[in-house]
Amino acid sequence: METKTKKTQTTDVQESALNELFIDELKDIYWAEKHLTKALPKMAKAATSDELRSAIENHLAETENHVSRLEDAFASIDEKAVAKKCEAMAGLIKEGDEIVAETEKGTFTRDAGIISAAQKIEHYEIASYGTLKTLATVLGYNEAAELLDATLQEEKNADSLLTQIAEGSVNQSGASEKK
Ligand code: FE
Ligand code: FE
Ligand code: ZN
Repeated sequence: METKTKKTQTTDVQESALNELFIDELKDIYWAEKHLTKALPKMAKAATSDELRSAIENHLAETENHVSRLEDAFASIDEKAVAKKCEAMAGLIKEGDEIVAETEKGTFTRDAGIISAAQKIEHYEIASYGTLKTLATVLGYNEAAELLDATLQEEKNADSLLTQIAEGSVNQSGASEKK
């Protein structure tokens, strides 16, 4: 007589709805990071201060690494790296473009606007990686969890650096610029 054996835990995890959610979110941030590698150079080029430009350029290099970390995370769970359109990031990038279009070249007001757009982007990424790291841990994907945490820390640093730049120079200089 055949007895039904309980599925192994690994099988359970891989077939779970939570696992599906995790992979879906991974595809979403993968799309977002790939698009950021195209959007950040434009933001850097539009910046007025060298300080902001180099901060964005540094984060571009980090962002390229975020893309490859995500590819490693997909590989670590035997999933193909596939990007799925992130509507939120598409919107945040569009808002950044609009701010550049609506502000005067060479002004600190433009920099204040770029910082605002960039921080909204970082906050979206921080929320995404925080969730992803937690899901990876719950699902037992330790390697993926470590990769996601490494990126999470870099997103947090990028956000703090933008705050420092805003508080340091841009906001003071922008306050005296005419409309
Ligand atoms: Fe990133
Ligand atoms: Fe998204
Ligand atoms: Zn970022």
